[in-house]
Amino acid sequence: MSKETDFTTSNQASWCPGCSNFGIRSALLGALAELDLKPHQTAMVFDIGCVGHGGNLFKVYGFHGLHGRTVPVAAGAKLANRKLTVIGLIGDGGAYGEGIGHLIEAARNNIDITLVVSNNHLYSLTKGQASPTLDQGVKTKSTPLGTIKPGLNPLLIALSCQAGFVSRGYADHIIQLKEMIKKAISHPGFSLVDVLQPCITLDQKNTRSWYQQRIYYLDKSWPVKNREKAWQKAQQWGRKIPLGIFFQERRLTYQENLPFLNGRPLISHSFKKSDFKKIIADFE
Ligand code: SF4
Repeated sequence: MSKETDFTTSNQASWCPGCSNFGIRSALLGALAELDLKPHQTAMVFDIGCVGHGGNLFKVYGFHGLHGRTVPVAAGAKLANRKLTVIGLIGDGGAYGEGIGHLIEAARNNIDITLVVSNNHLYSLTKGQASPTLDQGVKTKSTPLGTIKPGLNPLLIALSCQAGFVSRGYADHIIQLKEMIKKAISHPGFSLVDVLQPCITLDQKNTRSWYQQRIYYLDKSWPVKNREKAWQKAQQWGRKIPLGIFFQERRLTYQENLPFLNGRPLISHSFKKSDFKKIIADFE
């Protein structure tokens, strides 16, 4: 049986003391261990941003990519070696701003990866500018008069792209988040875990106490296969904020839809230097 310490490193986190990214890390470590995964079977792709600094805190195959490009790297890793469990760890700016097109295509194509989004509505690494999920009217350094745009709703985007697993967690609820991430990883196909992550240093609005007064979990009897109900529920935001698995549906993954991909995966092919020269020559 795997242990959380199988996936930890001796590196120190660079997050602010008390940052809720620690909660996301704990939930992820618990999920990896309880699913009995092994470090050599796991790949994590990290984006730019505060949460991306977690890249050196996990002992797995890791890649720290460019801003917003976590999804294509994760998709490539999964397609090249489908035995890997592939998880993208990314912030709201990268996932829903710079990388939104990638998220849409990965969800539509149903690439078998799990995307965990540390969503604090800000670009925290660069000191708190408005990200696409920030509510309209909120003042930040980049919007001193308040944002003029409505906040983007990531759950509605994922649902409209026919994503098969759409969920929202809260970073400080480590046990519930761990269970959610376990289900997301176990789901065959694209899974979104949007995690509300209060930035205790820069966020004046979406604080821990603000969330604690609003968040609640969907009932155990929630009809998780009903996309229409998920669509309605995902629009609730403000006085009450629902958490849980809004929608789950098994549909054919990208690889299952393209049977020729089910042959020998790229990882098991042996390439010689001369093979690469031939490939390059084809493009010349
Ligand atoms: Fe965490 Fe905010 Fe500090 Fe970034 S700036 S490490 S999100 S508390």
